[in-house]
Amino acid sequence: MGKESHKSSQLLSFEKFTPPGPVLARIQAARRPLLLTHIYPDGDGIGSELALARGLRARGASPAILNTHRAPERYDFLDPAGEIRVATTHGAPAEVKAAIAAADLFVILDTSDPSRLGKLESAVFAAPAPRVAIDHHVCRNEGSFDALWSEPRSAATGLLVLEVLLGLGVEITSPIAEALFVAIGTDTGWFRFSNASPHAFEAASLLAGKGADPERLFGAVYETSTLGRTLLLGELLAGLQSDAGGRIVHGLLRRSQLERHEVGYEELDGFIDVMKGVRGADVLLLLVELSPQRFKVSLRSKGSVEIHSIAERFGGGGHPKAAGCRLEGSVDDILERVLAALRELLAGYPP
Ligand code: AMP
Ligand code: MN
Ligand code: MN
Repeated sequence: MGKESHKSSQLLSFEKFTPPGPVLARIQAARRPLLLTHIYPDGDGIGSELALARGLRARGASPAILNTHRAPERYDFLDPAGEIRVATTHGAPAEVKAAIAAADLFVILDTSDPSRLGKLESAVFAAPAPRVAIDHHVCRNEGSFDALWSEPRSAATGLLVLEVLLGLGVEITSPIAEALFVAIGTDTGWFRFSNASPHAFEAASLLAGKGADPERLFGAVYETSTLGRTLLLGELLAGLQSDAGGRIVHGLLRRSQLERHEVGYEELDGFIDVMKGVRGADVLLLLVELSPQRFKVSLRSKGSVEIHSIAERFGGGGHPKAAGCRLEGSVDDILERVLAALRELLAGYPP
């Protein structure tokens, strides 16, 4: 799946992605599908879930959405009716167990790595219902699913969900269009990153025609920071440092800083993208302290440097230009380990 070789990368993005038959068939047959995405869900994960749930509901099914963590507040507007349940806040594990037991299909979106389901992984993989994954990350766990659509060429999982809905003959209503526009928009840096392919723009055009208002959606997602979040971004920027002659720019956020500004971890999405504004920086590195001696490591590449191999080496993963992992140790230790790996990587990419 998605493994065919291509002669010309120029034309890749004009290809239509076609959902594999078994994926469509499983989704079409499900009465009570349970939709899930990765830990610390992002716009692509929840936009994909909401769009698919709405489309399947319109076909007469009774889908549910269950996530390990709450999505960032800025996406709340996409879910006014509270369709998304969160395992951590929807209390009793018994309730979570019941939701999992009631499912006749699991549809895992925007990840195909079982461990990225976090604490829901064991229950989902112990349940009798079949598991389908729809994802645009490189899949290393093909055997974990009963049907899989892995399409690393796709800019966002939302693009794949759009194809699934069209494949099922679902009418793209305005709430579906909005959810998918946010899914694709957020994963492409609002249609600015290298993955903002002609296909992504084509989908955006279709979705805008179905009621997704780009200005309203941009405002809701990107122009609703708390003052604390903006001040925290300022602190991060004020403390940036460079390495490898300016080719690496790195920053650090301590837990105490997040607490002082009352900013949750899920609200940090987008901070590293601001760091990309530095001229000459090929790679951006952000360390966020999760707890003493535990850090979330985010990596971004601005040019041709592919950084996912570094994240993978440290037990994480991602895409060539956006990847991450978690590391334990002192900040100095972790910084030195990651910087050493990045310097070595950059040696293979002359400036
Ligand atoms: P982030 O820096 O958290 O925005 O993550 C960027 C990308 O890296 C995400 O889209 C994920 O695909 C991937 N990623 C981040 N953290 C991890 C991790 N711990 N394990 C696997 N992949 C990760
Ligand atoms: Mn994601
Ligand atoms: Mn995604």
